[in-house]
Amino acid sequence: MTPGIDRAAYRAMSAAELEDKIRYYNARYWDESDPAISDDDFDFITRLLAEKDPGNRLLDQVNAPAVAATADIRHERPMLSLDKVYSLPELVAWLEKTVRTADEKLLIQPKYDGISVLWEDGVLSTRGDGFTGKVITDKVPLIDLETLSGVLPLAEYPGRVLGELLIRTDDFKRRYASILNANGKPFKNSRNAIGGIMSLKDISGMTAQHARLTLVDYATVSRPATAAEISRIWPDVLEEMEQLPYPMDGLVVKLADAEYAESLGNTAHHPRGQIAFKFSGIRRTTRLLGVEWSFGKNCLTPVAELEPIEINGTTIRRATLHNLQNILDRDLQIGDAVTVERAGDVIPYIVSSEPGPERRSALITHCPCCGHELVRDLPELRCVNPECFETRLQLLLASIRSIGIEHLGEPSLRKIMTKLNVRTLSDLFNLSEINIFSQLRDDGFQGTSTQNLYREIQAARTVPAYKVLAALNIKGIGANIAKTILKKHTFAELRTLSTEQLAEINGIGPERARALHDELIRQSDGLDELLAAVTLVASSTEERPKICFTGKMPEKRAWYESIAKAAGYDPVDSVTDALALLVAADPNASSTKIADAKRLSVPIQSLDLWLGSVKNFVPKKEEPDKSDQMTFDF
Ligand SMILES: [Zn+2]
Repeated sequence: MTPGIDRAAYRAMSAAELEDKIRYYNARYWDESDPAISDDDFDFITRLLAEKDPGNRLLDQVNAPAVAATADIRHERPMLSLDKVYSLPELVAWLEKTVRTADEKLLIQPKYDGISVLWEDGVLSTRGDGFTGKVITDKVPLIDLETLSGVLPLAEYPGRVLGELLIRTDDFKRRYASILNANGKPFKNSRNAIGGIMSLKDISGMTAQHARLTLVDYATVSRPATAAEISRIWPDVLEEMEQLPYPMDGLVVKLADAEYAESLGNTAHHPRGQIAFKFSGIRRTTRLLGVEWSFGKNCLTPVAELEPIEINGTTIRRATLHNLQNILDRDLQIGDAVTVERAGDVIPYIVSSEPGPERRSALITHCPCCGHELVRDLPELRCVNPECFETRLQLLLASIRSIGIEHLGEPSLRKIMTKLNVRTLSDLFNLSEINIFSQLRDDGFQGTSTQNLYREIQAARTVPAYKVLAALNIKGIGANIAKTILKKHTFAELRTLSTEQLAEINGIGPERARALHDELIRQSDGLDELLAAVTLVASSTEERPKICFTGKMPEKRAWYESIAKAAGYDPVDSVTDALALLVAADPNASSTKIADAKRLSVPIQSLDLWLGSVKNFVPKKEEPDKSDQMTFDF
């Protein structure tokens, strides 16, 4: 397949010339299983013909393979093809003239790229030209039916099904590697395979090779939406649907109210209550010229460099490749033909690829910054050299975001790291204003911008504990999880817990617990420095771990509660499942609180043990009460 036809030359062609081209490419695609051009180029040519000659019958016949049939069948109700749109604005325009209110309910379904068929009274027939279909009941032994309630052999299903006959992409990978076509060769992809198999008069060769086809009921995958939200959710819907294991060339949007849809009736060729959104309007095939590995937080991120193409008026030169795993899964190499999608304002990405005639690996083995050997930590590729400048830059940048310094971007940080040898958050906090100004004066840091930056850095030194925890860049520990953790434990306590104890915190799980435990130890020195540089403010009381006391204690209850507050707890009077710790004068005593704590799996600690864990906060007895203190040090 060659990436890209000369579109200008096609625009100049007559309808008859376009028809010839369409017949030729359709046959190459379906009958010879050897596509000569990309799907989006094929669609482009059919769109040109539709513009020049909207009623052309060929438009209804393409995009389907020739099938070997035993008879013709007249459809009781015509099986019309769908009208098509190629962009979100076109889809929105269709909605505007179709829906009654912004709340109109819609269904979004895959537009499967297979053969539209009807199973009724034990007869399987194709859509054909919409009015007369082909009977293909002899293919039924190869077919499994996929419905909302599960999968079963089609022959065993007594009901009526309107759906698409196809080969699931996962089935194709697993099963079809060893299945050969009539010429003794493997099929190129699932769509070629379905075309090839449907053209067979005798399926015994396929039965012997255990080929399986799937009939998907159109109702099986159906995502509800309202007209008002379509524009907002569209990029996500596309990405979600593209993950499904079916060959697809677009999505179908239909009115959920079947009665209303019916009342709208049909145009000469299409029902008015539904529309096909074709991927070809947002996809183009081009060539992968190279892969650039850029530094992300803790990993190297591949970016595709493309032979420039235009999608919806925007020239695309680069596309995201997500991570190393994605390249390995696709066996993507430089020189391959790649199909790029750009939906709305999201970053363009590669949806499929085919090996190019000359290709070379896109992988790298050594860090482009420091030359250190890279580590495959799938799905990512990492530089593990602790001194690697670019890696440190990205990690520090992530920490800066987590701790809440908003206006220090990558270019400025790069200068600060280079000129002032800053490597960590504590380095940054310990910079003086004069230091920043004198070293960076020549780099655009003028009086006010230096002052503003300095002020923002200083302001960030007073920080809730969860932001400090999130700023450690521990895998899986973002701001929200950090909040959850610090509801159960104070920061000081956290550093003394075992992996098992950490895993008991709701929503953490063993993997995060291990990462948290190991990283708190590995980063211990840096964390001491950081904690010395910041002032932790307790978050609002509901974000602090709740503590409760029970039993007769040597001092007044208020004295223990003041220590608890200073250590970051929120003392409460009753035992609920929100309680983080029950401190008992005698854990073996029998009290309602102890019984409740046991029932709710709330940890119970003896008074002596607990006092030991918070000894830094125990005031000397002569000192005045400190219960109002809201900040604390380590
Ligand atoms: Zn490196």
